[in-house]
Amino acid sequence: MAAVDAAAWVRDFAALVNENATELTALDAAIGDADHGTNMQRGMAAAVAALDDSTPGSPGEICRQTAMVLIRTIGGASGPLYGTFFLRFAAAIESGSDIADFARAFRAGLDGVIARGKAEPGDKTMVDALGPAADVLEKQVAGGGSAQQALDAAVIAAEAGRDATTPLVARKGRASYLGERSAGHQDPGATSAALLVRAAGQALR
Ligand code: ADP
Ligand code: MG
Repeated sequence: MAAVDAAAWVRDFAALVNENATELTALDAAIGDADHGTNMQRGMAAAVAALDDSTPGSPGEICRQTAMVLIRTIGGASGPLYGTFFLRFAAAIESGSDIADFARAFRAGLDGVIARGKAEPGDKTMVDALGPAADVLEKQVAGGGSAQQALDAAVIAAEAGRDATTPLVARKGRASYLGERSAGHQDPGATSAALLVRAAGQALR
């Protein structure tokens, strides 16, 4: 990823998770078990520590290493889901280097999350932030948008998708146990997923 620096992406995501950990946990306290911020902080700190220890030479290897660390350290629903995202992203990007490669790999990562978690759009999960970002990335690439334009648009789409989770009733994950009472709260996983896209917007231009 000449334009796309995978290590910078992982590091920027970790930094954003740190800055927003209290909010992520507060959101999860409302409709889950109050651990999403600490889960993500623990996982991303371990992913950064692994990069500090050794940074692989290709984006695919960097994302594969990150995936394995997240699966090992996060636990909870989000560990395997983010792990699967990075694993499928890794397999699709390998040593790809442009925004078209990124868009294709992002879609593959999302497909992995859906295959693993079985969430559909509107189920009030991370899919509601990742899905609109994947759509917009593909649209921008098809329309000849620059990497910066594509990523800026993806950030807007992910954040709109995150915000749109608030009125939804959760149909997957712990929040679904609350039924109608899950409505009126922003989904924690959609919130962290929007940070993942924001980190890409910072790191990959
Ligand atoms: P846990 O629910 O095990 O405590 P976390 O609190 O770390 O795990 O993560 C909760 C987030 O995971 C939710 O806000 C939601 O976005 C996401 N999530 C849960 N189940 C699924 C699923 N089946 N598919 C996609 N995302 C899911
Ligand atoms: Mg939780």
